[in-house]
Amino acid sequence: MSALSVHQLARADVRALPLYSPDGIPGIVDLSDNTNLWGAPPAALRVLRDAPASALSRYPSLYSAELRAAIVRYVGLEPASAIDVVTGCGSDDILDSTMRAFGGQGERIAFSAPTFSMIPTLAGLNGLESVGIPFTRDFGIDAERLVDCGAKITYLCTPNNPTATAASRKAVEHVVTHAPGIVLLDEAYAEFAPETFVDLVGGNDRLIVARTFSKAFGLAGLRVGYGIGSYAITDLVARARGPYKVNSIAERAVLATLDATRDGLDWVREKVTLAIAHRARLADALAGLGFLVLPTAANFVLVPTRQAAELCGSLRARGVLVRALADLPRSLSVFEESEGRALRIGVGPWEMMQTLIDALADVLSCE
Ligand SMILES: *Cc1c(COP(=O)(O)O)cnc(C)c1O
Repeated sequence: MSALSVHQLARADVRALPLYSPDGIPGIVDLSDNTNLWGAPPAALRVLRDAPASALSRYPSLYSAELRAAIVRYVGLEPASAIDVVTGCGSDDILDSTMRAFGGQGERIAFSAPTFSMIPTLAGLNGLESVGIPFTRDFGIDAERLVDCGAKITYLCTPNNPTATAASRKAVEHVVTHAPGIVLLDEAYAEFAPETFVDLVGGNDRLIVARTFSKAFGLAGLRVGYGIGSYAITDLVARARGPYKVNSIAERAVLATLDATRDGLDWVREKVTLAIAHRARLADALAGLGFLVLPTAANFVLVPTRQAAELCGSLRARGVLVRALADLPRSLSVFEESEGRALRIGVGPWEMMQTLIDALADVLSCE
């Protein structure tokens, strides 16, 4: 019928998309993806072990009603308020579905740059044009310029990946109040931050806050995320998302983890407290080795350095995996000096941090 190859039949923008390829290798100290390095909560592991056959043979709930109710309680919002939750296959699914629900072909999504690398990718898949506005010199959000973009969707990420820095309440409120379209606020690292902005959903029905069970909760492999917002916005995102996106086992495991028990929520909170203590210790140790470390409100640190790629390779040879970043905006003076390069390092149990510090000291002594 058609003489065109599959490749030629594909949309040009899809053909041009690279596959996501973080270079994970099993069996080494992997600090490259900001997951919970202590592992997974015992309450979730128990659910997986004891799952009944029906959890596999039957379909999951359509829109995770029980899980959504538990999330409303966890977040501390009034169940009776006009706020609801939409779940997804990871919070990537919430970001993607929000773009699909509101972003028409050729419309814009604006964000502070640099930010989560999935955003331009998901934007491209949804036919949206990405507009990156550099952070201000002290890693603040340039709220006025963002608003002036007049974008259909404004994406904010705080604490921000990959910088680990947190936005001020004033800047977030400015964007939420004045942005002309939808505001998508990504709080993937909320549990590690000094404050969250989820309370703002009460007064703004065009705001959706995306969260995940992949980072603090240690459940990245289960793929569960959620969005919090007005009935109107969560309903529309759920429609764009489609039914059956959270599988039965994942829903049960997250429900068990949200229980205020020693193996559930207490486990999560204990690891968060440790991560917060270790990130300060790690930042001190890195500063002691002569590195600049950006202020961190997340479970990782960003270290601008011209040697990012070389250090990443040398650490890898010593069994430690970190993420080397390049092409960070040089309009920020720290990245101007590092020629746009940096290392992103996850925070975990202290033995892992010590392994990293020892490996780094060894690399530096060989130079
Ligand atoms: C890790 C991450 C996510 C996505 O996590 P999921 O595993 O898809 O829930 C979303 N936003 C940011 C900023 C992240 O770093």
